[in-house]
Amino acid sequence: MNGPVTVPTSPDGVPPEARAAHQALAQAIEEHRFAYYVLDAPTIPDADFDRLLRQLEDWERRHPELVTPQSPSQQVGPPGGASFAPVDHPSKMESLDNAFDRDELQAWYRRTIAGLASGDDAEAASAVACLGEAKIDGLAVDLIYRDGRLVLAATRGDGLTGEDVTANIRTIGVIPARLDGPAPELVEVRGEVFLPLDDFQRLNRELTAAGKSPFANPRNAAAGSLRLKDPKATAARPLSFLCHGLGLGREAFASLSQAYRRLAAWGLPTSPATAPVADWDQLWAYVEDLGRRRHSLGHEIDGAVLKVDAFAAQDRLGSTSRAPRWAIAFKFPPVEVTTKLLDIRVNVGRTGRVTPYAVMTPVQVAGSTVEMATLHNEDEVKRKGVLIGDTVILRKAGDVIPEILGPVAAQRTGAERAFVMPQVCPSCGTALSRQKQGEVDLRCPNQRGCPAQVVERLIHVGSRAALDIEGLGDKAAAALLADSVVVNEGDLFDLTAADLMGSAFFRKKAPKKQAVETGELEVLSETGKKLLDQLELAKSRPFERFLIALSIRHLGKGVAPQVAAAMGDIDHLARASAEELAQIEDVGPVIAEAVQQWFAVDWRRAIVRRWRAAGAMSALPAPTAGDGADQGGAAAAGTTASGSVGTVDQSLAGISVVITGALPHHSRDQAAAAVVARGGKATSAVSKSTGFVVAGDKPGSKYTKAQALGLPILDAAGFAVLLADGPEAARAVASVGP
Ligand SMILES: [Zn+2]
Repeated sequence: MNGPVTVPTSPDGVPPEARAAHQALAQAIEEHRFAYYVLDAPTIPDADFDRLLRQLEDWERRHPELVTPQSPSQQVGPPGGASFAPVDHPSKMESLDNAFDRDELQAWYRRTIAGLASGDDAEAASAVACLGEAKIDGLAVDLIYRDGRLVLAATRGDGLTGEDVTANIRTIGVIPARLDGPAPELVEVRGEVFLPLDDFQRLNRELTAAGKSPFANPRNAAAGSLRLKDPKATAARPLSFLCHGLGLGREAFASLSQAYRRLAAWGLPTSPATAPVADWDQLWAYVEDLGRRRHSLGHEIDGAVLKVDAFAAQDRLGSTSRAPRWAIAFKFPPVEVTTKLLDIRVNVGRTGRVTPYAVMTPVQVAGSTVEMATLHNEDEVKRKGVLIGDTVILRKAGDVIPEILGPVAAQRTGAERAFVMPQVCPSCGTALSRQKQGEVDLRCPNQRGCPAQVVERLIHVGSRAALDIEGLGDKAAAALLADSVVVNEGDLFDLTAADLMGSAFFRKKAPKKQAVETGELEVLSETGKKLLDQLELAKSRPFERFLIALSIRHLGKGVAPQVAAAMGDIDHLARASAEELAQIEDVGPVIAEAVQQWFAVDWRRAIVRRWRAAGAMSALPAPTAGDGADQGGAAAAGTTASGSVGTVDQSLAGISVVITGALPHHSRDQAAAAVVARGGKATSAVSKSTGFVVAGDKPGSKYTKAQALGLPILDAAGFAVLLADGPEAARAVASVGP
């Protein structure tokens, strides 16, 4: 169902290019649907997805022969991939058709009136009473109340069958377990589970503080939270809920507005943004007003939904195969604003790369203030055609990184000036150069002494992907260098309290009593103490994390676990020939060359020597660190001599796992490290010998190949099963083949 969509050839005269275009669109849509629904990690903005779907429908309108049951146009909701028990909905949960502008919305309104006028008891009319609602960007669920008690809750799934999430839904405080007052025997309440924006931001701060990956946007956060395996974990997430319809039980009411009033009386949350609209003028005014208020509702919305209010009228209008005729979603366009481009400056990264970025007049866009945006490189600045002083169009869809689309040329005054890429490093004054001919990026070659690069490298050593040293953030790193407490990262593990006292950043006023007793007016601050403690802890991090910390070009979190596993220790790595390096899984000649170049430099080797002399980087790879007692392959926890807990779990021994992209709850390096820590291999190429493919963000070609080879494919939940319960349990939840 998630695979390439095959369109049967038929002797019908559909031009081959139409068939090819249709098939390409269908496949792209399937992949995006998989990313959106199964991985909770959309790969493109919703507006772009909708555009693809409409292009597909255009082809199908022109060539009806292209419509097959497999076409995405005939399906609603997600493809398979459930990890909660499947449950059939008592009545179908339909999805809605979309309108993208005023004309399309008005065409729907007119169609609706015409549809009703042809009924027996309706005369030709110019208006039909509707309800306007906010289209909440969350996760649709179906709640079933029997005799007033919540007995079942399910996700939408494919509209007919969803996942049983009752236990998790019960943890959402605003959803009553019992309806307040008399209710029909069976009531099916539809609504949206979502995370309010404030709670979303707080959750992300907490996740970041706990060293976990934050969610990309509130919708992913809501979906991820609702589908946690442990209801207690879901309970800790501040999920909320608003009703948006009824399935079974609607016979008891004459209209949707009447039903909403009863739902509210029963104690179910209904949206204050819902309002009756009596005619077209009111309807359009509602949509426009909601659009203006969309960022002040406390939760994300991506449009308005308009529904015919009276149930009798809804029933007369009925549904197409895909969506009801009595409702439509009006999608708001992605948020674009204009602001002034004040300046283009450059940033020097830890490997010397010089990146231009835009400094703008601060502007509110999609709920946050934006004043800077990366411009990537000199060519990109040229391609966008922006001048300093220009009014520029800034775009932000959802929570993605803000992007400058281009200038508003009509607003130029003639005072604008072109950006000139600096020829010398803004930090150290060294002439910039391209490392290799044909490279786009300019670099500062003064890697040893360029302050900007040293600070960035210090920050990188402390980052989560590397040694995860709390207290070694950008301010601390800048202070360490500016006050000459360190020359470079080689000094870090030798730092003492006395050293840190050399920087005001790590000092505080001594308590009075202490000052009187000792005569010392200043003492080490909490910040300083924490940094020393954290540095001590970091000394026993796994070898692969130190590899990342060294800032060897191209040797990032993607390949560090493989290099660490293959080399075992730093001496071996420093001695390794290019051929030996290139044989490591995922390491090609480029990385091999970068490693050799890195170790060829004296001051860099000195960093390694200093770290080792200070007792860092001595932790051995986990599997060989135990006392050899665990040869049976059973999962057991061991403690290494240095005190860090390493596992001797060998449950994935001999099994190679391909992780194709980011997962909602693991960063890719965490996921790869988790596999390696269990004795498995994390590889990047899909082959017949691959044990499992974990489908992350953009599962395109690897995913398709895995299906073609009949390999077991795991989603995020399946991956959790693999790690917790081993390969056999994972095979039971994996999907195989198209
Ligand atoms: Zn420099």
